[in-house]
Amino acid sequence: MTMKTEIDQLKLLAKRYAHAMRSNRIDALDTISAELGFPHWKALVGKAKQGWTPSEEDLAKADAFVREYVPSLGHEPKFIDQSISRPAGQPIKIGEIEGHAYHVFEFFGDVRMEGDGWRIFIGEADFSQPVVEIETTHKETSPANDRSFVDKALEVAKSEAVKVRAGIASDWPRRSTKPNGKGEVVHPLNGDKATEWFCLHCDSKMTGAQIAQNLWHCPNCGANPLDIFSSPFWLEGSDKQPTDIKPTADKELSEPKVDIVDSRPTLRLNKQTISELLRIALLEDANTPSERLGALRAAIDVDDESDAWITFDEDLWPEDKDPTSAIAVAEKLGVELELAMTRMTFPFAWPGLGHATNSTSEYVEMMLAAYGEHGIILREESDERTD
Ligand SMILES: [Zn+2]
Repeated sequence: MTMKTEIDQLKLLAKRYAHAMRSNRIDALDTISAELGFPHWKALVGKAKQGWTPSEEDLAKADAFVREYVPSLGHEPKFIDQSISRPAGQPIKIGEIEGHAYHVFEFFGDVRMEGDGWRIFIGEADFSQPVVEIETTHKETSPANDRSFVDKALEVAKSEAVKVRAGIASDWPRRSTKPNGKGEVVHPLNGDKATEWFCLHCDSKMTGAQIAQNLWHCPNCGANPLDIFSSPFWLEGSDKQPTDIKPTADKELSEPKVDIVDSRPTLRLNKQTISELLRIALLEDANTPSERLGALRAAIDVDDESDAWITFDEDLWPEDKDPTSAIAVAEKLGVELELAMTRMTFPFAWPGLGHATNSTSEYVEMMLAAYGEHGIILREESDERTD
Protein backbone atom coordinates (compact mmCIF):
# COMPACT_ATOMS: atom_id res chain seq x y z
CA MET A 1 0.00 0.00 0.00
CA THR A 2 1.44 3.40 -0.95
CA MET A 3 1.42 6.41 1.32
CA LYS A 4 -0.99 8.21 -1.00
CA THR A 5 -3.56 5.46 -0.66
CA GLU A 6 -3.38 5.49 3.11
CA ILE A 7 -3.69 9.27 3.30
CA ASP A 8 -6.56 9.00 0.82
CA GLN A 9 -8.24 6.50 3.12
CA LEU A 10 -8.05 9.05 5.94
CA LYS A 11 -9.47 11.71 3.61
CA LEU A 12 -12.35 9.43 2.67
CA LEU A 13 -13.09 8.74 6.34
CA ALA A 14 -13.02 12.51 7.00
CA LYS A 15 -15.46 13.04 4.15
CA ARG A 16 -17.89 10.52 5.64
CA TYR A 17 -17.43 12.04 9.11
CA ALA A 18 -18.07 15.58 7.79
CA HIS A 19 -21.26 14.39 6.09
CA ALA A 20 -22.52 12.76 9.28
CA MET A 21 -21.54 15.65 11.54
CA ARG A 22 -22.82 18.30 9.11
CA SER A 23 -19.42 19.95 9.41
CA ASN A 24 -16.69 21.20 7.05
CA ARG A 25 -14.26 18.79 5.46
CA ILE A 26 -11.28 20.55 7.08
CA ASP A 27 -12.79 20.33 10.59
CA ALA A 28 -13.32 16.63 10.00
CA LEU A 29 -9.72 16.18 8.86
CA ASP A 30 -8.56 17.97 12.02
CA THR A 31 -10.74 15.74 14.23
CA ILE A 32 -9.38 12.58 12.66
CA SER A 33 -5.82 13.87 12.91
CA ALA A 34 -6.45 14.51 16.62
CA GLU A 35 -7.63 10.90 17.01
CA LEU A 36 -4.23 9.84 15.66
CA GLY A 37 -2.36 12.16 18.03
CA PHE A 38 -1.76 15.14 15.74
CA PRO A 39 -2.76 18.69 16.70
CA HIS A 40 -4.41 19.17 13.27
CA TRP A 41 -4.48 17.90 9.67
CA LYS A 42 -1.66 20.19 8.51
CA ALA A 43 0.65 18.63 11.10
CA LEU A 44 -0.29 15.15 9.89
CA VAL A 45 0.38 16.09 6.27
CA GLY A 46 3.70 17.72 7.26
CA LYS A 47 4.77 14.51 8.98
CA ALA A 48 3.66 12.48 5.96
CA LYS A 49 5.85 14.61 3.71
CA GLN A 50 8.78 13.57 5.87
CA GLY A 51 7.98 9.95 5.16
CA TRP A 52 5.50 9.02 7.90
CA THR A 53 2.60 6.79 6.85
CA PRO A 54 -0.43 5.83 8.90
CA SER A 55 -0.01 2.27 10.13
CA GLU A 56 -2.70 -0.41 9.82
CA GLU A 57 -3.40 0.29 13.46
CA ASP A 58 -3.84 4.03 12.79
CA LEU A 59 -6.25 3.32 9.95
CA ALA A 60 -8.19 0.86 12.09
CA LYS A 61 -8.40 3.43 14.87
CA ALA A 62 -9.66 6.15 12.51
CA ASP A 63 -12.13 3.71 10.97
CA ALA A 64 -13.48 2.66 14.38
CA PHE A 65 -13.82 6.30 15.42
CA VAL A 66 -15.76 7.33 12.30
CA ARG A 67 -17.93 4.20 12.52
CA GLU A 68 -19.27 5.48 15.87
CA TYR A 69 -20.91 8.32 13.93
CA VAL A 70 -21.46 6.61 10.57
CA PRO A 71 -22.71 3.12 11.43
CA SER A 72 -23.42 2.54 7.73
CA LEU A 73 -19.75 2.95 6.83
CA GLY A 74 -18.77 0.27 4.35
CA HIS A 75 -21.47 -2.21 3.43
CA GLU A 76 -23.51 -2.26 6.60
CA PRO A 77 -27.20 -1.27 6.60
CA LYS A 78 -28.11 2.38 6.93
CA PHE A 79 -28.48 3.94 10.37
CA ILE A 80 -32.28 3.87 10.22
CA ASP A 81 -32.33 0.18 9.23
CA GLN A 82 -30.01 -0.66 12.10
CA SER A 83 -32.20 1.38 14.43
CA ILE A 84 -35.43 -0.31 13.33
CA SER A 85 -34.02 -3.83 13.50
CA ARG A 86 -32.60 -3.39 17.01
CA PRO A 87 -34.87 -5.00 19.67
CA ALA A 88 -36.57 -2.32 21.80
CA GLY A 89 -34.95 -3.54 25.00
CA GLN A 90 -31.41 -3.61 23.63
CA PRO A 91 -29.29 -0.69 24.86
CA ILE A 92 -26.81 1.15 22.64
CA LYS A 93 -24.61 1.81 25.64
CA ILE A 94 -24.31 0.63 29.22
CA GLY A 95 -22.12 2.00 31.96
CA GLU A 96 -21.86 3.40 35.47
CA ILE A 97 -21.66 6.88 36.96
CA GLU A 98 -20.47 7.14 40.56
CA GLY A 99 -21.44 3.51 41.08
CA HIS A 100 -24.94 3.94 39.60
CA ALA A 101 -25.57 1.72 36.58
CA TYR A 102 -27.25 3.14 33.49
CA HIS A 103 -28.51 1.94 30.09
CA VAL A 104 -28.87 4.14 27.02
CA PHE A 105 -31.53 3.27 24.40
CA GLU A 106 -32.23 4.73 20.99
CA PHE A 107 -35.66 4.70 19.38
CA PHE A 108 -36.41 6.43 16.06
CA GLY A 109 -33.71 9.02 16.67
CA ASP A 110 -34.64 9.75 20.29
CA VAL A 111 -32.28 8.87 23.12
CA ARG A 112 -33.42 7.57 26.52
CA MET A 113 -30.95 7.01 29.33
CA GLU A 114 -32.18 5.02 32.32
CA GLY A 115 -30.97 4.26 35.82
CA ASP A 116 -32.66 3.06 38.97
CA GLY A 117 -35.65 5.37 39.41
CA TRP A 118 -34.46 8.06 36.97
CA ARG A 119 -34.27 8.61 33.22
CA ILE A 120 -33.19 11.25 30.73
CA PHE A 121 -34.82 11.90 27.35
CA ILE A 122 -33.13 13.74 24.49
CA GLY A 123 -35.01 14.21 21.22
CA GLU A 124 -33.68 13.76 17.71
CA ALA A 125 -33.62 17.51 16.94
CA ASP A 126 -30.48 19.39 17.95
CA PHE A 127 -32.46 22.06 19.84
CA SER A 128 -34.63 19.64 21.81
CA GLN A 129 -34.54 20.25 25.54
CA PRO A 130 -33.31 17.33 27.65
CA VAL A 131 -35.91 16.07 30.14
CA VAL A 132 -34.87 14.45 33.41
CA GLU A 133 -37.50 12.29 35.12
CA ILE A 134 -37.23 11.12 38.72
CA GLU A 135 -39.70 8.55 40.05
CA THR A 136 -41.74 9.72 43.07
CA THR A 137 -40.78 6.47 44.77
CA HIS A 138 -37.09 7.46 44.45
CA LYS A 139 -37.61 11.17 45.15
CA GLU A 140 -35.46 11.15 48.29
CA THR A 141 -32.82 8.65 47.27
CA SER A 142 -32.29 9.16 43.53
CA PRO A 143 -28.77 10.11 42.44
CA ALA A 144 -30.53 12.38 39.92
CA ASN A 145 -31.32 14.75 42.82
CA ASP A 146 -27.65 15.70 42.66
CA ARG A 147 -26.99 18.25 39.95
CA SER A 148 -23.41 17.13 39.40
CA PHE A 149 -24.65 13.55 38.80
CA VAL A 150 -27.24 14.84 36.32
CA ASP A 151 -24.55 16.81 34.51
CA LYS A 152 -22.40 13.71 34.15
CA ALA A 153 -25.36 11.65 32.94
CA LEU A 154 -26.35 14.41 30.50
CA GLU A 155 -22.86 14.38 29.09
CA VAL A 156 -23.22 10.67 28.31
CA ALA A 157 -26.75 11.03 26.90
CA LYS A 158 -25.77 14.05 24.79
CA SER A 159 -22.75 12.34 23.30
CA GLU A 160 -24.98 9.40 22.32
CA ALA A 161 -27.49 11.87 20.83
CA VAL A 162 -24.69 13.42 18.76
CA LYS A 163 -23.88 9.97 17.34
CA VAL A 164 -27.54 9.24 16.62
CA ARG A 165 -27.90 12.58 14.77
CA ALA A 166 -24.72 11.82 12.86
CA GLY A 167 -26.14 8.44 11.85
CA ILE A 168 -29.33 10.10 10.59
CA ALA A 169 -27.41 12.81 8.71
CA SER A 170 -25.18 10.17 7.11
CA ASP A 171 -28.32 8.47 5.73
CA TRP A 172 -29.45 11.74 4.15
CA PRO A 173 -27.92 13.53 1.15
CA ARG A 174 -25.04 15.83 2.08
CA ARG A 175 -27.05 18.75 0.64
CA SER A 176 -29.82 18.12 3.19
CA THR A 177 -27.62 19.17 6.08
CA LYS A 178 -25.15 21.53 4.43
CA PRO A 179 -26.51 24.49 2.44
CA ASN A 180 -24.83 25.27 -0.89
CA GLY A 181 -23.44 28.72 -1.78
CA LYS A 182 -26.94 30.02 -2.50
CA GLY A 183 -28.21 28.79 0.84
CA GLU A 184 -30.25 26.01 -0.74
CA VAL A 185 -30.88 22.73 1.04
CA VAL A 186 -32.59 19.54 -0.12
CA HIS A 187 -35.47 18.06 1.87
CA PRO A 188 -34.17 14.70 3.15
CA LEU A 189 -37.46 12.90 2.54
CA ASN A 190 -39.12 14.46 -0.52
CA GLY A 191 -36.05 15.83 -2.34
CA ASP A 192 -37.39 19.41 -2.78
CA LYS A 193 -34.67 22.05 -3.01
CA ALA A 194 -35.13 25.60 -1.66
CA THR A 195 -33.58 28.43 0.36
CA GLU A 196 -36.69 29.08 2.47
CA TRP A 197 -38.81 26.56 4.34
CA PHE A 198 -42.17 26.60 6.13
CA CYS A 199 -43.62 24.64 9.04
CA LEU A 200 -47.10 23.26 8.49
CA HIS A 201 -47.51 22.96 12.24
CA CYS A 202 -46.79 26.54 13.40
CA ASP A 203 -46.56 28.56 10.11
CA SER A 204 -42.94 29.48 10.83
CA LYS A 205 -40.68 30.54 7.99
CA MET A 206 -36.99 29.60 8.20
CA THR A 207 -33.83 29.54 6.13
CA GLY A 208 -32.27 26.39 4.72
CA ALA A 209 -29.42 26.76 7.19
CA GLN A 210 -31.82 27.00 10.15
CA ILE A 211 -33.79 23.90 9.27
CA ALA A 212 -30.67 21.90 8.39
CA GLN A 213 -29.06 22.93 11.68
CA ASN A 214 -31.95 21.37 13.63
CA LEU A 215 -31.97 18.10 11.65
CA TRP A 216 -35.12 19.15 9.76
CA HIS A 217 -37.22 19.67 12.87
CA CYS A 218 -38.93 23.06 13.15
CA PRO A 219 -36.69 25.20 15.43
CA ASN A 220 -39.84 26.93 16.72
CA CYS A 221 -42.21 24.07 17.54
CA GLY A 222 -40.15 20.90 17.03
CA ALA A 223 -42.42 19.53 14.25
CA ASN A 224 -40.74 16.70 12.36
CA PRO A 225 -39.39 16.74 8.77
CA LEU A 226 -42.75 15.55 7.35
CA ASP A 227 -44.25 18.91 8.37
CA ILE A 228 -41.58 21.04 6.65
CA PHE A 229 -42.35 22.30 3.12
CA SER A 230 -40.74 24.59 0.56
CA SER A 231 -43.95 26.63 0.20
CA PRO A 232 -46.73 27.45 2.68
CA PHE A 233 -49.44 26.05 0.39
CA TRP A 234 -51.87 25.65 3.28
CA LEU A 235 -51.94 29.44 3.81
CA GLU A 236 -53.05 30.15 0.23
CA GLY A 237 -56.23 32.20 0.23
CA SER A 238 -56.00 32.93 3.96
CA ASP A 239 -55.05 36.19 5.68
CA LYS A 240 -52.35 34.45 7.69
CA GLN A 241 -48.71 35.13 6.90
CA PRO A 242 -45.80 32.86 7.79
CA THR A 243 -43.81 34.22 10.75
CA ASP A 244 -40.05 34.55 10.55
CA ILE A 245 -38.25 32.36 12.99
CA LYS A 246 -35.97 34.01 15.53
CA PRO A 247 -32.29 33.10 15.50
CA THR A 248 -31.96 30.20 17.89
CA ALA A 249 -30.22 30.80 21.16
CA ASP A 250 -29.16 27.19 21.62
CA LYS A 251 -27.77 27.77 25.11
CA GLU A 252 -31.27 28.51 26.32
CA LEU A 253 -32.51 24.99 25.57
CA SER A 254 -29.54 23.02 26.83
CA GLU A 255 -30.74 23.50 30.43
CA PRO A 256 -32.61 20.28 31.30
CA LYS A 257 -36.19 20.20 32.52
CA VAL A 258 -36.56 18.12 35.69
CA ASP A 259 -39.86 16.33 36.39
CA ILE A 260 -40.91 14.18 39.32
CA VAL A 261 -43.11 11.45 37.86
CA ASP A 262 -45.03 8.43 39.09
CA SER A 263 -45.05 5.67 36.50
CA ARG A 264 -46.37 2.94 38.79
CA PRO A 265 -49.50 1.21 37.46
CA THR A 266 -52.43 3.29 38.70
CA LEU A 267 -55.98 2.05 39.21
CA ARG A 268 -58.43 4.92 38.78
CA LEU A 269 -61.73 4.01 40.41
CA ASN A 270 -63.85 6.45 38.49
CA LYS A 271 -67.37 6.29 37.09
CA GLN A 272 -66.28 4.32 34.05
CA THR A 273 -64.21 1.65 35.82
CA ILE A 274 -66.81 1.17 38.59
CA SER A 275 -69.56 0.81 36.02
CA GLU A 276 -67.53 -1.66 33.94
CA LEU A 277 -66.68 -3.80 36.97
CA LEU A 278 -70.35 -3.87 37.98
CA ARG A 279 -71.40 -4.85 34.48
CA ILE A 280 -69.01 -7.80 34.23
CA ALA A 281 -70.33 -8.92 37.61
CA LEU A 282 -73.88 -8.71 36.24
CA LEU A 283 -72.80 -10.88 33.30
CA GLU A 284 -71.55 -13.42 35.81
CA ASP A 285 -74.91 -13.31 37.60
CA ALA A 286 -76.84 -13.80 34.38
CA ASN A 287 -77.77 -17.41 33.52
CA THR A 288 -80.24 -17.24 30.66
CA PRO A 289 -79.92 -15.42 27.34
CA SER A 290 -82.50 -12.89 28.55
CA GLU A 291 -80.53 -12.23 31.72
CA ARG A 292 -77.34 -11.79 29.71
CA LEU A 293 -79.09 -9.26 27.50
CA GLY A 294 -80.45 -7.67 30.65
CA ALA A 295 -76.92 -7.38 32.05
CA LEU A 296 -75.65 -5.82 28.81
CA ARG A 297 -78.52 -3.36 28.59
CA ALA A 298 -78.95 -2.47 32.26
CA ALA A 299 -78.46 1.23 32.97
CA ILE A 300 -75.58 1.61 35.43
CA ASP A 301 -75.21 5.09 36.86
CA VAL A 302 -72.38 6.09 39.18
CA ASP A 303 -72.66 9.46 40.91
CA ASP A 304 -69.97 11.84 42.13
CA GLU A 305 -69.84 10.08 45.51
CA SER A 306 -69.22 6.79 43.67
CA ASP A 307 -72.60 5.40 44.64
CA ALA A 308 -74.25 3.31 41.96
CA TRP A 309 -77.70 2.50 40.61
CA ILE A 310 -78.46 -0.42 38.38
CA THR A 311 -81.75 -0.24 36.51
CA PHE A 312 -82.89 -3.49 34.86
CA ASP A 313 -85.46 -4.07 32.20
CA GLU A 314 -88.19 -6.14 33.85
CA ASP A 315 -88.63 -8.28 30.73
CA LEU A 316 -84.97 -9.21 30.66
CA TRP A 317 -84.06 -9.50 34.33
CA PRO A 318 -86.35 -11.39 36.76
CA GLU A 319 -87.58 -9.03 39.44
CA ASP A 320 -86.87 -11.49 42.26
CA LYS A 321 -83.30 -12.28 41.15
CA ASP A 322 -80.55 -10.69 43.23
CA PRO A 323 -77.37 -9.93 41.27
CA THR A 324 -75.22 -11.41 44.03
CA SER A 325 -71.91 -11.00 42.23
CA ALA A 326 -72.59 -7.33 41.44
CA ILE A 327 -73.57 -6.77 45.08
CA ALA A 328 -70.31 -8.40 46.21
CA VAL A 329 -68.25 -6.30 43.80
CA ALA A 330 -69.95 -3.11 44.98
CA GLU A 331 -69.10 -4.05 48.56
CA LYS A 332 -65.43 -4.65 47.70
CA LEU A 333 -65.26 -1.27 45.95
CA GLY A 334 -67.00 0.48 48.85
CA VAL A 335 -69.82 1.47 46.51
CA GLU A 336 -73.37 1.81 47.81
CA LEU A 337 -75.58 -0.03 45.34
CA GLU A 338 -79.26 0.48 44.58
CA LEU A 339 -81.29 -1.70 42.27
CA ALA A 340 -84.36 -0.72 40.30
CA MET A 341 -86.62 -2.21 37.64
CA THR A 342 -88.15 -0.45 34.72
CA ARG A 343 -89.81 -1.29 31.44
CA MET A 344 -87.58 -0.26 28.58
CA THR A 345 -88.35 -0.33 24.91
CA PHE A 346 -88.16 -4.01 24.18
CA PRO A 347 -85.25 -4.77 21.85
CA PHE A 348 -85.83 -7.72 19.52
CA ALA A 349 -85.92 -10.74 21.78
CA TRP A 350 -89.22 -12.65 21.75
CA PRO A 351 -90.79 -12.03 25.17
CA GLY A 352 -90.35 -14.96 27.50
CA LEU A 353 -88.30 -17.21 25.25
CA GLY A 354 -85.03 -15.83 26.61
CA HIS A 355 -85.80 -17.33 30.01
CA ALA A 356 -86.75 -20.79 28.68
CA THR A 357 -83.20 -22.08 28.23
CA ASN A 358 -79.62 -21.31 29.26
CA SER A 359 -78.30 -22.00 25.76
CA THR A 360 -78.01 -18.99 23.49
CA SER A 361 -78.08 -21.18 20.40
CA GLU A 362 -81.32 -22.91 21.46
CA TYR A 363 -82.82 -19.56 22.31
CA VAL A 364 -81.91 -18.09 18.90
CA GLU A 365 -83.45 -21.11 17.19
CA MET A 366 -86.70 -20.72 19.15
CA MET A 367 -86.80 -16.99 18.56
CA LEU A 368 -86.28 -17.36 14.80
CA ALA A 369 -89.05 -19.97 14.72
CA ALA A 370 -91.40 -17.70 16.70
CA TYR A 371 -90.78 -14.72 14.44
CA GLY A 372 -91.08 -16.97 11.40
CA GLU A 373 -94.47 -18.26 12.50
CA HIS A 374 -96.06 -15.22 14.12
CA GLY A 375 -94.09 -12.28 12.83
CA ILE A 376 -91.63 -11.20 10.23
CA ILE A 377 -87.83 -11.39 9.89
CA LEU A 378 -86.08 -8.63 7.95
CA ARG A 379 -82.47 -9.17 6.99
CA GLU A 380 -81.30 -5.61 6.60
CA GLU A 381 -78.96 -4.57 3.82
CA SER A 382 -75.68 -3.01 4.75
CA ASP A 383 -76.75 0.57 3.74
CA GLU A 384 -75.90 2.14 7.03
CA ARG A 385 -72.96 0.02 7.94
CA THR A 386 -69.50 1.39 7.60
CA ASP A 387 -67.64 -1.83 6.88
ZN1 LIG B 1 -43.12 24.68 13.62
